[in-house]
Amino acid sequence: MNKKGHVLNAVLLSIGLGYLLEPSGSLETFRTIVMIGVPVTLGALFPDVDTAFGKHRKTLHNLPILLGFLAFPYVFGNLEYVWVGVLTHYVLDVAGSKRGIALFYPLWKKEFGLPIGVAVSSKRADLMMVVVTVAELLLVALVVFRVPQWGFELGRQGLGL
Ligand SMILES: [Zn+2]
Repeated sequence: MNKKGHVLNAVLLSIGLGYLLEPSGSLETFRTIVMIGVPVTLGALFPDVDTAFGKHRKTLHNLPILLGFLAFPYVFGNLEYVWVGVLTHYVLDVAGSKRGIALFYPLWKKEFGLPIGVAVSSKRADLMMVVVTVAELLLVALVVFRVPQWGFELGRQGLGL
């Protein structure tokens, strides 16, 4: 996926996440979108820095890098949500483009991708980006709306109510 695809994916994802987390459609929703959208978009741009430094789709396209961004806010108290951008970049490269990414680099150089991906230069790359973004939002919606319900059900059954 090219830079435009990654930025649009991050922006659309952030708008969707903003509405999922703050569905009121008020100023608070807008605030949430900006709060999430800026770090997510920066995070989505980060992995392709390895086109200039390191090996593309390997050096900054792997799970140790993602874990680093996940842990960073806990250790240093900033860079929240950047990991979401890095993750969605990986998802888009794995699912939306023909060539995969080396998820286990530097331990294993094999690049993993899904067979549904299209070439970066393909006319369908934008459509693929939208499909991946919608799938991501559906997954998040499932987690946001269903998991609390499951937790509630489990708790209720655990208490014998
Ligand atoms: Zn990439």
